[in-house]
Amino acid sequence: MVVCLNPKTTKEDVDKIISYIKDMGLDVQVTEGQQSTILGLIGDTSKIDPNTLMMNVHVDKVMRVAEPFKKASRTFNPVDTVVKVGNAEIGNRKKFTVIAGPCSVENHDQIVEVAESVKNSGATLLRGGAFKPRTSPYSFQGLELEGLELLKEAKANTGLPIVTEIMSPKMVEKFESDVDIIQVGARNMQNFDLLKELGKASKPILLKRGLSATIEEWLMSAEYIMAGGNENVILCERGIRTFETYTRNTLDLSAIPAVKKLSHLPVVVDPSHSAGRRWMVEPLSLAAMAIGADGLIVEVHNCPEKALCDGAQSLDPKQFDDLMTKLRNMGKNLGIEV
Ligand code: PEP
Ligand code: MN
Repeated sequence: MVVCLNPKTTKEDVDKIISYIKDMGLDVQVTEGQQSTILGLIGDTSKIDPNTLMMNVHVDKVMRVAEPFKKASRTFNPVDTVVKVGNAEIGNRKKFTVIAGPCSVENHDQIVEVAESVKNSGATLLRGGAFKPRTSPYSFQGLELEGLELLKEAKANTGLPIVTEIMSPKMVEKFESDVDIIQVGARNMQNFDLLKELGKASKPILLKRGLSATIEEWLMSAEYIMAGGNENVILCERGIRTFETYTRNTLDLSAIPAVKKLSHLPVVVDPSHSAGRRWMVEPLSLAAMAIGADGLIVEVHNCPEKALCDGAQSLDPKQFDDLMTKLRNMGKNLGIEV
């Protein structure tokens, strides 16, 4: 972090600022310019809020040179994190993990049928929302606790571990016992109370990127979870809001290599919520594999026309099976097992 002082700062005030910074456990490299003094802060600056330094009347400018996240940063931890759940190794660059299932759990037959078909096609984890964050309070809100029970039945039938979304910090204990990967939805990416609770959880967290979150904000949310002690975080790029309305969201493919450079955490792509249109799921999925994502989370419904949520972007079982074949073929050329 670099701190530029106002040209009129006296030697005495410069010394006060230096000792204030040293008291925070950092070293300071002082450069006396012709106009002003520049302080280079050396050490872990992730705990320093630039705005606090800006409150000092002698400080003109504060610039970060290192990222504000630490546990999520590749600089501090260069080795790729691999999250192991069931047969999946999310983050192992030689393996591509596909999580599939309906947007929402609707009833027993639906979730059990979809679970069996995605398993037969090669998915290694089952998704399905029981608590749904809907824009309208009048839309289907999910089966809630009954939905969790149905997911557990589908898991018992297929052996597929469960990925499902949590909305409230009050539910963490229940999710810890019933769920294999706890999903934080885009709308809750900055629900800091929830993130803090999940920091204490023993299960991996799938952290979706917020609707309009920058990569840094997203990684700072991962940092919240990791700072609490839970280092098993999987990032999920699910499209961001842009001026474009043709797609539901704009899949930010460039976020994948960016995150891989900045962080050691695995990153998966959600082509379904990115596109909002079923026919686009396949090309976006292949692009995700090509650009280095660790896997996908895809919506699949046994009868998309009748889905209670997100039918337009859901694949039917045959379309999902075709997608898996294409991914496996592409994976062969890239040395990646699907
Ligand atoms: C979902 O996965 O069903 C979902 C609601 O996704 P997002 O939080 O990305 O909108
Ligand atoms: Mn959905």
